[in-house]
Amino acid sequence: QKIEPKKDVYVIASDSAFAPFEFQNANGEYEGIDVKLMESIAKLQGFNIRMDYRGFSAALQALESGQADGMIAGMTVTDERKKSYDFSDSYFDSGIQLAVKKGDTSIKSYEDLKGKTVGAKVGTESAEFLSDHESEYGYSIKYFDAADQLYDGLKVGAIDAMMDDYPVIGYAIKQGQELETPIEKESGGKYAFAVKKGQNPELLNMFNEGLKELKRTGEYDKIIKEYVADGS
Ligand code: GLN
Repeated sequence: QKIEPKKDVYVIASDSAFAPFEFQNANGEYEGIDVKLMESIAKLQGFNIRMDYRGFSAALQALESGQADGMIAGMTVTDERKKSYDFSDSYFDSGIQLAVKKGDTSIKSYEDLKGKTVGAKVGTESAEFLSDHESEYGYSIKYFDAADQLYDGLKVGAIDAMMDDYPVIGYAIKQGQELETPIEKESGGKYAFAVKKGQNPELLNMFNEGLKELKRTGEYDKIIKEYVADGS
């Protein structure tokens, strides 16, 4: 199904570092699952994009203020967000998980976080989860703008634990980061492409049509497998 783009170029906001969904490779170019999906869909559906890798909460703000037309950033569909954004069909099943420094045996459950400091990226599902359970488990929360600061914070001991999406923690561990995940992940999150509520409906439709086509041709599976060997 052919949908006519209404803009010459759509600005798509994204995170600045969220491997394997978007990250800078050794050449300083962005790549990853979101990058490939977005580029392939734009090509298939015949619309132009300019990617803007500004960070997760900055991307939300760009969408809100109209500086961006769409957003792809490993963004989880939530009921709260549905009030402000329209989401595409989901393209990835995710979930959030707690990570500690490798070898830290002091944290085996959320209860063990009492009196400790836990980090998360501002505006994320992890940040939301931590603030929802802050008084229950008695930790304090430290918010970070970007993933490198969050992961470095754990490395240098500025925080005792952190929370992030589990495929992102898993990828970091595979890349050799000294982390472990003592607690089962919280399940349920699904990633989707988003536009501001009521805005750019054709862009959302083109994304959905392109995603269907990528799934039909097997290209979707290829993109996922390139970055997550087991597809999860
Ligand atoms: N999936 C999480 C969320 O939507 C985190 C996304 C991100 O950090 N890029 O809040």
